Amino acid sequence: MRVQEVDLSRTYDAVIVGSGAAGGMAAHVLTDHGLQVLLLEAGKRLNVEQELRSMEWPYDHPRRGDAPPGSHALSFNEYTIRQPPYANKTAFKHVYSYVGGWSGADYVKNILVDEKDHPYTGTRYAWVRARCLGGKTNIWGRLALRLSDYDFKAKSHDGYGEDWPIAYTDLTPYYDKVDLYLGISGVKENLPHLPDSLFQRPTRLNPAEVKLRQSVARTGRVLTPYRAGVTTDGLKHNKYRSKCFGRGACNRRPGGCDIHAAFDSPTGLIYPAMDTGCLTLRTNAIAYEVLVDQNSGKARGVAFIDSDTRKTYEAKGKVVVLAASTLESARLMLLSRSRQHPNGIGNSSGHVGHNFCEHVMGPGVTGFVKELVGRPRTLDDGRPGGFYVPRFRNLKDRQSSFIRGYGFEGNSGYSMFPAGAQDAPGFGAGFKKTVRDHAGAFISMGGFGEVLPRFESFVDLDPEAKDGWGVPVLRFHYQFGDNERKMAEDMAVTAREMFEAAGIEVIGVDREILTEGWSIHELGTARMGNDPKTSALNQFQQSHDVRNLFVVDGSSHVSASCQNPTWTIMALAWRSCDYLAGELRKGNL
Ligand SMILES: Cc1cc2nc3c(=O)[nH]c(=O)nc-3n(C[C@H](O)[C@H](O)[C@H](O)COP(=O)(O)OP(=O)(O)OC[C@H]3O[C@@H](n4cnc5c(N)ncnc54)[C@H](O)[C@@H]3O)c2cc1C
Ligand code: SF4
Repeated sequence: MRVQEVDLSRTYDAVIVGSGAAGGMAAHVLTDHGLQVLLLEAGKRLNVEQELRSMEWPYDHPRRGDAPPGSHALSFNEYTIRQPPYANKTAFKHVYSYVGGWSGADYVKNILVDEKDHPYTGTRYAWVRARCLGGKTNIWGRLALRLSDYDFKAKSHDGYGEDWPIAYTDLTPYYDKVDLYLGISGVKENLPHLPDSLFQRPTRLNPAEVKLRQSVARTGRVLTPYRAGVTTDGLKHNKYRSKCFGRGACNRRPGGCDIHAAFDSPTGLIYPAMDTGCLTLRTNAIAYEVLVDQNSGKARGVAFIDSDTRKTYEAKGKVVVLAASTLESARLMLLSRSRQHPNGIGNSSGHVGHNFCEHVMGPGVTGFVKELVGRPRTLDDGRPGGFYVPRFRNLKDRQSSFIRGYGFEGNSGYSMFPAGAQDAPGFGAGFKKTVRDHAGAFISMGGFGEVLPRFESFVDLDPEAKDGWGVPVLRFHYQFGDNERKMAEDMAVTAREMFEAAGIEVIGVDREILTEGWSIHELGTARMGNDPKTSALNQFQQSHDVRNLFVVDGSSHVSASCQNPTWTIMALAWRSCDYLAGELRKGNL
């Protein structure tokens, strides 16, 4: 790839902050328009193939994938009992979010942030962050879903909150572009509430999943193969990515695909953008303020700290594009106080940090398909995901106890770490046979429900606490409400019903709600809207207050939907950056 020297004496056309899904997409689109772009990324550029070691077997690792002694991943109990900052007063040298507790912690120890350096305060929140080139896309679960007008026009549907300033038709061409540029696998279902993508080859459902699909279809519901942001047919235009070989690696680790069949921002977007000769990358660059021109009040660049040397620098740009992720972009806006923007840049509405929303998780079901016991072994984790049951609540019906909806993500079949092994009775050869015979017969699914945006759900800057580089940290004021609790109760009920109706023996129903933040789908802290009094950004993710400031990540979302957000983040960023390039050419910024 072509590497450009960073030149801080020059004014770039655009300075982008953050290199995840949003920042990577901004870099791709703006360089495609021929703009000269500087991308600032707080984390390091990792040798990610070496980090992920997707094909390493547990017995080839000195600790079977566990992190070294002295490292600790936060548990559900800790999130429940304690208050942030969770790494406070701990004896462990390194503390990671709960994702570091999935099998294979050693593979993500350099990808996830160390909570010791990155504290936050306030109400309980399981905040998962990845500070490295590509951000969370290095380990994301790849469920790649579109939103529909049930989401964009949700207020028109049920009266709550605000409609988005765009409709599905505004975003359709950009979803199509994302599909074609990055690759997505799935099956067309023609659902108005979960629009189809331009799919590559789908992965196959296994027998337990087919059984459930046939059963739920009888009630008008749908079970579809996991819509994965993974190229299954390959992408001729991208030399950094390979097609999925179904190597059985997807389910072994907390995400990550070392041949980059699964989308990640560096190989999918950033390296190809560097090859245009228009993109300069500065890693280890922690942005801490959007700089403002004293006369015009417009953004003139970004101040950053080198994470290693701790020296501070300024990068100059005609346009500033924030893409540091929903919560970090809000933090940066709040940190950027000036005479012209005393509440933080782009925050004359007082809405930055507010209307924070995400997905509620926890309830789900595990079952057992008796007729699959003892059947020949199949390669079920050699695929990017299992299945998805799209929303079915509050579409045509009206639930009396909650508004909006939820979907289920699920999986079944054989995997490297056999389901049920820990609970199986016996020992020796008999135990092994029991585990082997039963391993392919388990099936489970868990809900992801829409959390309502509320003005009183917000983050602000803690007046005292600072991170490892002396930058004020976020303080959370955020809890699930009654709608989320009622929705979660319904999830547990419908999950059980669907398994029972399919003749699947239910062996466990989870009813407990996981800690706020568990979904890793944080959204809404600088929402779009037509009214500058109640929103921070317009429909092109452009600040109402500062016309050369754009915020292209999930902070712009008006509501959370129940569909996973990353594909929408990228479609919106593409649309906004097309607009940005046009406006810059016209001299409007
Ligand atoms: C385990 C896991 C599973 C997931 N599964 C799914 C899924 O199945 N489907 C789905 O849609 N989504 C999923 N997600 C969420 C998905 O990863 C995010 O929606 C997506 O990455 C958001 O993109 P982003 O660019 O806003 O943020 P990120 O990907 O987090 O990127 C932000 C970047 O900004 C950098 N940054 C932050 N602050 C600063 C600063 N001050 N200065 C400079 N740089 C900064 C960070 O280091 C990071 O590289 C998952 C996430 C995880 C971790
Ligand atoms: S199954 Fe496909 S997407 Fe998953 S790790 Fe293997 S090649 Fe990558």
